[in-house]
Amino acid sequence: MNVPPFSLSQQIDDLGSDLEEAVLGVLRSGQYIGGPQIKAFEESFAERVGTRHAVGCNSGTDALVLALRALGIGSGDEVITCAFSFFATAEAISAVGATPVFVDVDPDTFLIDLDQVEAAISDATRALMPVHLFGRAVDMTRLMALASSHGLRVIEDCAQATGTQWKGQPVGSFGDVGCFSFFPTKNLGAAGDGGAATTNDDSIAQTMRELAVHGMPRRYLHTALGYNSRLDAIQAAVLNVKLGRLSTWIEQRNVIARRYRDQLTELPGIKLPENQEGHSWNQFVLRIQNCPTGQPLCNGQCSPSAISSSHGLPESYCRDWLKQYLHDRGVNTIIYYPIPIHRQPAYEHLGYDSGSMPNTERLCSQVLSLPIFPELSELEQQHVVSALHQLYGRNQAVEQEPLAA
Ligand SMILES: *Cc1c(COP(=O)(O)O)cnc(C)c1O
Repeated sequence: MNVPPFSLSQQIDDLGSDLEEAVLGVLRSGQYIGGPQIKAFEESFAERVGTRHAVGCNSGTDALVLALRALGIGSGDEVITCAFSFFATAEAISAVGATPVFVDVDPDTFLIDLDQVEAAISDATRALMPVHLFGRAVDMTRLMALASSHGLRVIEDCAQATGTQWKGQPVGSFGDVGCFSFFPTKNLGAAGDGGAATTNDDSIAQTMRELAVHGMPRRYLHTALGYNSRLDAIQAAVLNVKLGRLSTWIEQRNVIARRYRDQLTELPGIKLPENQEGHSWNQFVLRIQNCPTGQPLCNGQCSPSAISSSHGLPESYCRDWLKQYLHDRGVNTIIYYPIPIHRQPAYEHLGYDSGSMPNTERLCSQVLSLPIFPELSELEQQHVVSALHQLYGRNQAVEQEPLAA
């Protein structure tokens, strides 16, 4: 059996003719830019998130850029975020000319450590950009209180958290703007790139709309230097079909996560992700804290020379070895993310040294994402679980050999 980390084939089969009709409908209509599919999607998505507006755009990255621009954030401004995320979080801040200021994460939640935010606030700080990483919500009660006591704007990076709630309220409805990605592997994926920015503020929504179309409030009048960042009608049509299934998919992700958590307890050295009410489980991320058996997991194979894919962090050899071990047994995993943003070559100029974000750096050498997607079958999941159990079984057998001899 071969278990992929993510697959859409079952979902496409399930959606069947609905998807075909939606896509062909757009093709036949000739309305590829704008039109009723876009309007319908923006309205239903806003309703789903619980905001007055949703502005469709080209990607989650663009949603972040549009949000920053609409809030007037640019050169000389600082935005506080975390370095344990996809690169686009910080990239968007830099793209508008502002500077990302990184704060370490809590190693148990993988999320920005709110205890450390206050110390990072300077005279130049304009906004906080929390990331609801892997589908788990940041404590928005606390973050909003922090932001309002310092007069800061809040842009939520909800790219991995469509369907996530904090205290029963959807993420993307707390801050000034919520930014969503419809990249195919996200909780609500388009058939290509897509994104949306949600807000309750009429004027922010209007500005984002205009910026997404060349800063053009009416035809050929340009009041700002904007972008070409529309959501395609064909993507909106796909999303309109899929949005109706989102709740079911989130429930299925929760079932899969619960099963992993029930069946993988007490594997030494492997820390399971904590549950949280409202989690949408975009990823199920293990932490390989050391050689998981307490014995060398890998019988000494977990060394730099044995690992071709190692990212060069000493602690990662065991994780990388485990990834290979699982791969050899048909279990395909992914590392989100092997290199922290503050240590990326593109951010060398910001001057963050190795060791400046200890939790983030350690996580990058420890994390491993198990297969999770709504259509993952119980049989496939069982295969993943037994591959992990076998690892311990094998090591116990090795350990017992001297006794038997
Ligand atoms: C995917 C992602 C983005 C960017 O979204 P795109 O649609 O790929 O541009 C931003 N932030 C995070 C945390 C993401 O996971």
